Order: sequence, then C-alpha cells, then structure tokens
Amino acid sequence: MKLVLVGGGHAHALAARQLATGKFSQITLVSAPRSTPYSGMLPGLLAGHYQFAQAHIDLKKLADKYQFEFIEQRMSAIDCQNQQLTLDNGQQLDWDLLSLDTGSTPPLPKWFYQNESNNLVSIKPVEKFLECWQTFLEKLKQQPQWKAKIAVIGSGAGGIETLLALQYELSQRWPGREFEYCLIYRSSNVLAGHCSAVQSRMAKLLRQRHIHQVSGFALKQAEPDKLIAEDGRSELVDFSVVCTGAKAPSWATDSELDTCERGFVQVNQHLQSTSHPKVFAAGDIASIYPISPPKAGVYAVRQAPILTENLKQMAVAGSDVSLNNSESELAVELSVKLESYQAQQHFLSLLSCGDRYAIASWRNLALQGRWVWYWKDYIDRKFMNQFPGTRL
Ligand SMILES: Cc1cc2nc3c(=O)[nH]c(=O)nc-3n(C[C@H](O)[C@H](O)[C@H](O)COP(=O)(O)OP(=O)(O)OC[C@H]3O[C@@H](n4cnc5c(N)ncnc54)[C@H](O)[C@@H]3O)c2cc1C
Repeated sequence: MKLVLVGGGHAHALAARQLATGKFSQITLVSAPRSTPYSGMLPGLLAGHYQFAQAHIDLKKLADKYQFEFIEQRMSAIDCQNQQLTLDNGQQLDWDLLSLDTGSTPPLPKWFYQNESNNLVSIKPVEKFLECWQTFLEKLKQQPQWKAKIAVIGSGAGGIETLLALQYELSQRWPGREFEYCLIYRSSNVLAGHCSAVQSRMAKLLRQRHIHQVSGFALKQAEPDKLIAEDGRSELVDFSVVCTGAKAPSWATDSELDTCERGFVQVNQHLQSTSHPKVFAAGDIASIYPISPPKAGVYAVRQAPILTENLKQMAVAGSDVSLNNSESELAVELSVKLESYQAQQHFLSLLSCGDRYAIASWRNLALQGRWVWYWKDYIDRKFMNQFPGTRL
C-alpha cells in the first residue's frame, strides 16, 4: 500500500518516525519548503534565543533517516476518485492511502496579496516571513537614524509573542536605538480564550514594554506603510505582520473531500475523512466532527500517535484485501479497528515575552517569571530532541 503524507507539520514529523514499521510498500512525504518550523520555538527564533536549525526539522533528513521518499513540492489539488495528487510543478502522484498535515495560514483578503510587500507580511508561511524580516533588518541597518514603527495585527498568543520577540531582537541588535511598537486588534482585549488573570497580566506587561495598543481596529485595507480600519481610523506603520486566526487552503474546498463550514478537511474521531475513508488529516488542516479543538500545534502533537496507529491499521487491512478501490474502501471501513482521538479540554500555554520571561496560562491560573520561560525552553528542546540528526 502506497502512503503519501502531505505537509511536514508536527503530526507528520512525529508519525514519520514510526511509520516505517507499518505494512507500506512505499511512503512519500510531500512538503515545501524542506525545513519545517516547530511552532513552540518560533518566538524564541525571532527573539534570537535559538538558531534557525534549532527550531526547524529538516524533512529531507527525516525522510532519509526513516527510509522514505521526500518530494520538496507543494500539493495544489487532490483527486479522490482517481487517488491522485497534483503538485505545484505539475507532477501527478498516485496514492492508496493519503494523510494531510499542512497547517493553516491567517485569513487574508484578496487585497492583501495585491498589496503584500516586504513590509506587509503574514506570519505564515514562516519562511516567507523570515525572508521579509531579514530584508527589513537590512534596511534598518542602512538607515541608523530611522525610528521605525513595527506593528503586529492580531492579539492572540502568536501575535503578542511575535511582537515581543521582534522588540527584544531589535533591542539586542541595536541597544539604545529607538523604535515604536504597536499591537493592533479587532477585539476589546488581548488573548481571547485565556482567563482574565492572564489577559490582565499580559496587558500590563505590554504597557510596561511601551507597546502601543490599538483595540477595536477591524482591518479593512492595508498598504505597505498604512493600515486602515473599517471605521476610518488609520495607523502609519513601517513593518506589519498579520497574525490573525487560521484559514483553510483552497485545495481543500476544491476537492471532493468533506470540509467544515470554514473549509478545513472534516474528519471523524479517528482523524479519517468523513467522506473518504482512505484520507486522514491532522493538525490545523483537520476539523474534527462534531467538535474540533482550536488550531494549535499542541493538538497536532497529541494527534500524532493516533494518526500513526490508524495509518498502520489501514495498511494492514489494505494488504489483507486485494479488491478494487470501492470494494476495498468498503472492506477497510468495515474491518479496521481504528483508534479514537479525544482532544484535551484545556492545555497549558506558556507565552514567551521576548526576553527570557514568560506567562503561563492554565485554566483560571496565571503564573509568570523567568522560570516559566526556562520551563517552556525545556519542553520545547525536549520536543526537538525527538529528531536527532534531522537539523539543517
Ligand atoms: C508565532 C506563533 C507561535 C505559536 N506558538 C504556538 C505554541 O507555543 N503552541 C501551540 O500549540 N501552537 C502555537 N502556534 C500555532 C501553531 O503554529 C500551529 O497551530 C501549528 O503549527 C499547526 O501545526 P500543523 O502540524 O497543523 O502544521 P504546521 O506546523 O503549520 O506545518 C505544516 C507544514 O506543511 C507544509 N505545507 C503547507 N501547505 C502545503 C502544501 N499545500 N503542500 C505541501 N506542504 C505544505 C508547510 O510548509 C509546513 O511545513 C503558534 C503560531 C504562531 C504564528
């Protein structure tokens, strides 16, 4: 049975280490770019606490290590009927069993792509963001008197961590040099979904760090140097990063796969497509029916063992039956005993604050300090230590 994994997200990176022992005739991982970031370390990478290689997994090395094929391409379409994928370079790829872990990107309107520039950029894809940030740093270097204004749009954990990390990085690179920092968001408060103790601690920290907060700002239009709200307000900016929520890719809704109302691939508790039993999905791209957890890397990580086990089970069932496609689909549906994924209701968030300082958020509890950052650092390094020999 030929297994194709699309996207080198957290769940696939973890699953890849175990799949070689399954009954697959061939395993192929399709992902681009070659290195995939570990989200927990992203703020630390931006702040300069980690090197690129420490926060990324080299998927080619991972594939070589566990002896599967790696194709550095993005998938652009899925044909479920013919069990075929189309890649960005036009290549067609057949699959018997398909697994998707391609993450998500912030929901961006059409005008964003028209106005997108090196100064107006989305946090994802991360590689593109890093490139634009490097270009901006180069400009700052060439204009030492420039008091640039850096803005992040979005007051979720990722947005705040990003802004604080960029602030810290600039303070280390050019000590004493002045910049302006601005957090722009639609809601009235930061960190929606976290308890009020965490929200107020973070709001206080943002004030202490001289971050100008603009709330109730529903972004209507953006130009490389100006953000305009629906109510007519505008903010002049020199570099802005969009960190707002999660959007599904168009290939999901263009396919025959069931998708949720937001366009993510709909799966059951086995992480198996509700419309196509030979398709699985995990991480941000998956929407679990009927109740899906929030889009966060921690869920992708927890889904990895279930996904691994179920893909292996499908291979066992597939190799036991030599039927045509629709018959074997029916057979695997009836005979395979699949593991169920149960999302945890609460998860611990350790929010890094640029320097080696963090705020912990757990249910109604808020804790903060340098020790929280070192705790997070320990957890994140432990995660990455599961991939020895797969750094760039
Ligand atoms: C600054 C920041 C900090 C964050 N911190 C945390 C945190 O501390 N904890 C947490 O739980 N979450 C965090 N998140 C959220 C987290 O990034 C995502 O929820 C998580 O990365 C989703 O993991 P995933 O496995 O679904 O996919 P991803 O990690 O997004 O990986 C998807 C992979 O698929 C590849 N890919 C995408 N499309 C295609 C395609 N069409 N074809 C082939 N390959 C493709 C991508 O290049 C990428 O390698 C953070 C987000 C941000 C922005």
